Amino acid sequence: MRIGVDLDGVVANFTKGWTELYEKEFGKKILEEEITEWGLSKPLTHFQEEIDFWKWAKDIDGSSIFRNLELYENAVDVLYELSKNGHEVVIISSKPWWSIHDTLMWLGENKIPTKEIHFIEEKWKIDCDVYIDDAPYQLDNYIKNRKDKTIIRFVRLYNDPLEGVYDLEDWNDLIALLNSI
Ligand SMILES: [Mg+2]
Repeated sequence: MRIGVDLDGVVANFTKGWTELYEKEFGKKILEEEITEWGLSKPLTHFQEEIDFWKWAKDIDGSSIFRNLELYENAVDVLYELSKNGHEVVIISSKPWWSIHDTLMWLGENKIPTKEIHFIEEKWKIDCDVYIDDAPYQLDNYIKNRKDKTIIRFVRLYNDPLEGVYDLEDWNDLIALLNSI
């Protein structure tokens, strides 16, 4: 199987990464429990518009916000297991152009087992058998354009269940889920 895997909010802990840097710079602690909507501008942060968040995120002490994100627990082990079993791990990320070099270094440093990486906003255009994502609008796009494929929502407080979409809360449950479909 070709397994299309998103990075932020699925493999990389973007929430922890940006909230720690935000607290360091602006002195306000934002808890994961408070992030119940998709979006990073007001009222969650002081940024008026999303674009203002991204302007800040682009250059924090010389690198982008994506440079040093932590991995979610078990993500890499499970991706290795899938690769070892003959599946292809296809990274599909919609990260901004200015984060690409940081992300490629991050993928290498974290030994993500992939031979195929896409940076694309219209993720559904990449042909896979399974798609794993956390963004509500990307999950909607998969439903609209790839409803014959297996679509998996990585459950976060800022996304909701969707009809025809499988839910995954823990990386350790992925292989059993794929075997059950
Ligand atoms: Mg994501």
